[in-house]
Amino acid sequence: MTDILNVSALEYVQMVRTGSFTVSEFLSETLDQIQDLEPRLHAYLSVADEAALTSQAKGIDRRLRSGERVGACAGMPISLKDNLCVAGGKTTCGSRMLEGYVAPYDATVVSRLRAEDAVLVGKTNMDEFAMGLTTEFSAFGPSRNPWNTEYVPGGSSGGSAVATAARECVASLGSDTGGSVRNPASFCSVVGYKPTYGLVSRYGLISYANSIEQIGPLTRTVGDAAFLLNIVAGSDANDDTTLDGGTGGGEMATDYLEGIDDGIDGMRVGVIREMMDDNAVDPQVAEATCRAVSDLEQMGAVCNEISVNMVMYSVAAYYTITAAEAESNLARYDNLRYGYDHVMDGYGFSSYIEEARRMFGPEVARRIIVGGFVSSAGHAGQYYMKALKVRGRITQQIGEAFQTCDLLVAPTVPILPFRMGEKSDNPVELFMVDLNTVTANLTGRPSISVPYAVSREGLPIGVQIMADIMQDRLLLRAARALESKAALGEVPLG
Ligand code: GLN
Repeated sequence: MTDILNVSALEYVQMVRTGSFTVSEFLSETLDQIQDLEPRLHAYLSVADEAALTSQAKGIDRRLRSGERVGACAGMPISLKDNLCVAGGKTTCGSRMLEGYVAPYDATVVSRLRAEDAVLVGKTNMDEFAMGLTTEFSAFGPSRNPWNTEYVPGGSSGGSAVATAARECVASLGSDTGGSVRNPASFCSVVGYKPTYGLVSRYGLISYANSIEQIGPLTRTVGDAAFLLNIVAGSDANDDTTLDGGTGGGEMATDYLEGIDDGIDGMRVGVIREMMDDNAVDPQVAEATCRAVSDLEQMGAVCNEISVNMVMYSVAAYYTITAAEAESNLARYDNLRYGYDHVMDGYGFSSYIEEARRMFGPEVARRIIVGGFVSSAGHAGQYYMKALKVRGRITQQIGEAFQTCDLLVAPTVPILPFRMGEKSDNPVELFMVDLNTVTANLTGRPSISVPYAVSREGLPIGVQIMADIMQDRLLLRAARALESKAALGEVPLG
């Protein structure tokens, strides 16, 4: 690997514009890196056609040379989680069910990246339909952690985190329903950022749990996350839940890079007690988080412990609500409207659909069964409605916490990355790994995982910061400050 692949997105843009390298050179290095590492890491489910990429890169080089307009990404290789639709390309969602699905349109984030001359190198591996946190539930085989290939890379946007950490792209977009951007970011030592709910259009993101999920960047620096948000954020007529807060035009245009280096002097930081519980948190993770808190103090923040006791019920509420939404979203895969293309001979209407739905993997099937149960007439009061009440209470408590705090801090994941296969047979144990991430999703708050330390075994540890709704700029500023104190080694690349 050559050194140029180590550049951040912001450096890339500057260097390509001043002629340190060409788009074509950088692309060819990236494709070589992909070819070298993919047999070991399996970050990608598909890589775009080399000839098409090369001709796009040449076109951008030509425009750079002749002084024509070139978009903000200036030919930067970016990867996309395989639940984001790219027109004419395969979008499998990590599922056999969509193995042959070719999206007829671009997701809004994809068209915004294209408009800024990003080079979309490929689609990254993920847990099937984004359900999971290890990438082991991909129907096409797991991705591996580049820090140690015996370990899971986290998930569900595992491929995006691996590709970004291993320099197989400059940055990536994933989706975060309950931690799927932040968790793999933490496990692979990259930045993972879930923006405020509604800041980024979900049009063209294949739905898992609409009321909860957001698309977010995985990058090697906090500045790069702000850079990507500048491109993808903003209201969209195709997604009614979007808020006006992007640079995509409109009066509320925000530049998320502005003031990012202003530091955190005087900010009030709450450290959530329920996310630091000795019984749940690995001692090395706890120790790193405490060090991060003292770094923040040293930079002028005022840190205090704070209790948000409803957090204890967050995982139960999260899995009840998301299962119900998933069950409804996944009903469309009946093989008549969407899905696998079976020969229909010998089947009746129901048996055909039944046969088709066997294409779902065991984790997805479990969620569908649970989702149908918790929202069914006889049980909704006991489960789904109760979960909604819990969600309301957590939202209220988090709102109260932000009356006295500007930021809330916790470990991103309570434990260190674990070995492949270690937890894949124990769903409930896996669910509990989401303890610290789901609260931001249930309450719509922005949250970021900053790579902060490396354990004695050489495994990454991330620290999570959460901010109040639409305080994304403040969040990125704090993350930038914390990043400046991180003690990271270099990724050994398997
Ligand atoms: N682990 C969580 C789940 O399986 C989160 C997944 C996600 O954020 N997409 O639902």
